[in-house]
Amino acid sequence: MNRPVTQESRESEIGNLLLSEQLIRQRVEALAADIRTAYSPGPFTILGLLNGSLLFTADLLRELPPETEVVFWRVKSYEGTISTGNPEGLEAEGGEFAGRRVLVVDDILDSGCTLRAVEKRLRDLGARAIEYCVLLSKQRPRSPGAPVPRWIGFEIPDQFVVGYGLDYEGRYRGLRSIRVLAEEKMSMERFP
Ligand code: 5GP
Ligand code: MG
Repeated sequence: MNRPVTQESRESEIGNLLLSEQLIRQRVEALAADIRTAYSPGPFTILGLLNGSLLFTADLLRELPPETEVVFWRVKSYEGTISTGNPEGLEAEGGEFAGRRVLVVDDILDSGCTLRAVEKRLRDLGARAIEYCVLLSKQRPRSPGAPVPRWIGFEIPDQFVVGYGLDYEGRYRGLRSIRVLAEEKMSMERFP
């Protein structure tokens, strides 16, 4: 049995398939090609938001010019499947952003609170031009003042998804596909 078949059957119990590994790979390559053109000639800095954009940022980066600088910030705003609406951790994050063009990369745009808070922090640090690339964008209303990404991989329904970097309580980040988390995997499973 080859790897995709084994992998698919292993991942299928986590939830219904939303985006396959192949579809994600094709879309990431297309986004990277567009970003390469938009930022040519450089320089610019990629700011990846951890933990969710771990795989997306790594895959994008491999398609970008070798000089591309990358920085990661750690931001947390979800408890389980619920947004706290209050991104934590940004006050501890910094870097050499004065006068730089910055492309913020995140896994998913939901309420928009995270990107709004990141934008404020980057402006305080003197970033010159800030743009956004998100792999997923949920079809739902945004918070007032939420930035609009220039690059969006996929528009998805307003459901809780996992895989390709997105977790549920620290699990499922390593899935190659993106899935709608099955109800029976939520909450009760950890403390049966
Ligand atoms: P926002 O601040 O836009 O409401 O939420 C953005 C962050 O919430 C994302 O970076 C991601 O970490 C988390 N998030 C939002 N929706 C989902 C989801 O469906 N699944 C997972 N695993 N995380 C999500
Ligand atoms: Mg995130």
